[in-house]
Amino acid sequence: MKEHGVIIIAIDGPAGSGKTTIATGLAKRLGLAKVDTGAIYRAAAFLAQRLRVDFEDEDALAELAARMRTSLRVDGETRKYLLDGEDVTEKIRRPEVSAAASKLSAWPKVRAMLLDLQRELALNSGTKGAVLEGRDIGTVVFPDADVKLFLTASAEERARRRFQELKGKGLDVEWEQVAADQAARDEQDSSRPVAPLAPAKDATVFDSTGMEVEEVLDGLEKLVKGRIQEM
Ligand code: C5P
Repeated sequence: MKEHGVIIIAIDGPAGSGKTTIATGLAKRLGLAKVDTGAIYRAAAFLAQRLRVDFEDEDALAELAARMRTSLRVDGETRKYLLDGEDVTEKIRRPEVSAAASKLSAWPKVRAMLLDLQRELALNSGTKGAVLEGRDIGTVVFPDADVKLFLTASAEERARRRFQELKGKGLDVEWEQVAADQAARDEQDSSRPVAPLAPAKDATVFDSTGMEVEEVLDGLEKLVKGRIQEM
């Protein structure tokens, strides 16, 4: 536990690397809150699409992000995302919102507007700490996190997981399209000049290709507990 007074576990990684599943499972096992920072960018992108804000207009997007900070609520019990009371949990998961989130999140002013919100959700969760998942948690949001993990898996397996997730939600998606969209998003997230997707220097890289969820969780729980004596 560093100077923030709570335990902070950072999980970064590309799309489909299993961050959400693993962050949720780890948080549960360790009695910590989970903060999905991608959902914050997704909610902003969803709102920008709905309000027809130009995705090339950084100032307009940053203004929208600033306003969204007060309208976005995460229901701690149900894990639902509410925008001005409207449940957008499923809507922000749609493929067109994924692509829009990647575009919007490349703008530095937008990222700056959403930084404090991510930190506040982790620091004021009412528990002994939080597991945060995203792209720049270990590098920008909490560079002094207690444990930094960079989760990855082969491009094919990541695309397969995403395809199954979307199919499971009843969406009519093509395998080739899902794989291409995912590759484009990873390329955009990794190549942006500000807060690109990259492992922090002191992150532990964990490749989950071919592994079962419980196996990954067992390994990471052990690793985290080994690092944090008081857990
Ligand atoms: O994690 P998820 O796929 O939900 O994130 C959606 C998009 O939000 C990512 O593709 C990325 O562009 C952006 N993002 C980010 N920084 C984070 C989390 C997400 O730029 N910490």
